[in-house]
Amino acid sequence: MSALRPSPIAPTVDFERDGVQHGFLRLPYSRDDSAWGSVMIPICVIRNGNGAAALLTGGNHGDEYEGPLALYELARTLDPRNVSGTVIIVPAMNYPAFRAGTRTSPIDKGNMNRSFPGRPDGTVTDKIADYFQRELLPRADIVLDFHSGGKTLDFMPFCAAHTLLDKAQEEKAFAAVEAFSAPFSMRMTEIDTVGMYDTAAEEMGKVFVTTELGGGGTSRAETVRIARRGVLNVLRHAGIVAGAVEKTPTQWLDMPSGDCFAFAEDDGMIETMVDLGGKVEEGQVVARIHSTGRTGIAPQEIKAKMSGLLAARHFPGLVKAGDCVSVLAVEVG
Ligand SMILES: [Zn+2]
Repeated sequence: MSALRPSPIAPTVDFERDGVQHGFLRLPYSRDDSAWGSVMIPICVIRNGNGAAALLTGGNHGDEYEGPLALYELARTLDPRNVSGTVIIVPAMNYPAFRAGTRTSPIDKGNMNRSFPGRPDGTVTDKIADYFQRELLPRADIVLDFHSGGKTLDFMPFCAAHTLLDKAQEEKAFAAVEAFSAPFSMRMTEIDTVGMYDTAAEEMGKVFVTTELGGGGTSRAETVRIARRGVLNVLRHAGIVAGAVEKTPTQWLDMPSGDCFAFAEDDGMIETMVDLGGKVEEGQVVARIHSTGRTGIAPQEIKAKMSGLLAARHFPGLVKAGDCVSVLAVEVG
């Protein structure tokens, strides 16, 4: 690969300076309403001497709120005297998407979590991904990226890490998930790992932890509490914030194969037959899709391909062919 040009993003913070800095990643973006304008992505750096570094992100998808709610507050309240090392906080990673309340960027339709490793000469979303790939991820020892279901999915609240070929790295990630202390902890399988921030961090050997804490394009009191406690627990577990991890019981779950996902094959109106967290037997109908163009048509039944718990479901009342309807997970440990 030929050498990449430098990133066009200019940080207004100094990653080597002790104390608290609230600043921006300034990304030049020339457009109709601002000829020499920039996208100003909020960033906070809290540093107290040498030590491990954590990189904390929310708003990778712009319609997921537990991460931003936890991280704007952490940036406002974390006292550097309680820190040993560095905490880098970017509460709204795909900031244009976050401002628009949409999963992808309104500027270029970029899905941040399919844009890695990014490009310094690509779209706005590519440029943000490239900055994380080459400037921020290399600084981190541990990476926590908050997700929820957004406007189209709703999840049982869980913290997750992926099964990895490097078992020592996997063990560290699962230990951080356990420390997060969400009600559920997931050994996660992805539909499509290409371009994910997760994969970029894991390929660099970082301890990578993520979440799915709810969804529907909003947040709940309980899921925000889980996010706020979880991020502090991960920082305590990493030895970056002083104090003991506030452990609460967690149920480990596994997504053993692609059979955990079900997809709609028709457009229509969806009827959930099982609520989130409900037990499902193989062959059971988890959802029905009603055709709405005329009366008298029998609904399409979506049947479970395995037994487990309903970990996620389609959120809006209308569904399109190809939409993910349900995700099942099995209890382990
Ligand atoms: Zn997401």
